[in-house]
Amino acid sequence: MTSTQRIESSNHLLKGYVSPGSPMHLFLRKYEKLQFDRESEESFQEKRTTLSGVPLRLNIPIERHASKIYTRSMFEQFSEALYKSFAHQVDVIEHRKVYKVTHLDAAAREKWSKIVFIVNVDDEARFFDCECGTFEHSGMVCCHSLKVMIEFRLAKIPDKHVVKRWTRDARDILLDHLVRYQKDRGSPASDTFRHSQMWIRALECVRLSDINVKCYDVFMAMMKEVYATLLPLSHDKDGMGLEERDGVAKMASGTACSDTVEHVKALVEDWRSIILFRHCSC
Ligand SMILES: [Zn+2]
Repeated sequence: MTSTQRIESSNHLLKGYVSPGSPMHLFLRKYEKLQFDRESEESFQEKRTTLSGVPLRLNIPIERHASKIYTRSMFEQFSEALYKSFAHQVDVIEHRKVYKVTHLDAAAREKWSKIVFIVNVDDEARFFDCECGTFEHSGMVCCHSLKVMIEFRLAKIPDKHVVKRWTRDARDILLDHLVRYQKDRGSPASDTFRHSQMWIRALECVRLSDINVKCYDVFMAMMKEVYATLLPLSHDKDGMGLEERDGVAKMASGTACSDTVEHVKALVEDWRSIILFRHCSC
């Protein structure tokens, strides 16, 4: 997206919330509302899950596990698959390896509708490969595999079937060069006092900057300056940095930094478009 497109896009979006002639204090109030409204569906589902919990249909172990890991929206999809699974029967073709799952009401199904599915199970029952391909397509376990999992009396959905994007920890997904900071990667053994101090301070700043639009704007503007200041200084490495210690020192190479640079550029473009809109008289 070009800068002009970004500005036009921001203008179009903002015009739905506040008239161009509005004073600044009204603009800020409306802008906060816009930000709230524009929060992603994932964020909405995350809050919805936290606030209202999720209803269990069968209260069996695997359903309880799903209710703990999925966002509400994805749990509803899981519940639907679980419900459908009970409309199928399972036949063993090869014990603990290959199963045939057949729809119980085959006669009532459309002629073109497939009613028999083969599910292959790996050696340790960690992955259930159904020929319907639903999991590969959507990231949600299908009713056929689920039926076999229940046959196996699994209390939990196998890890390989839990796509992180659909879980409550989805926000913990980071860019490749930042993945070491992901929650489930744990704290590196080579962590230092220097690193810990910066990490805590940075999180404190993020917490404060998330309180209102003014804090957010100040944070983004200052971070832009901090980044620009640090970038040239960071070329002189002392070997004590976390990346060097982990043997994954890629940040110094242009390619490894490109994601960060592009990300910052995009943020700056967004920031500029907002500023331009505030001074726009159209
Ligand atoms: Zn299937």
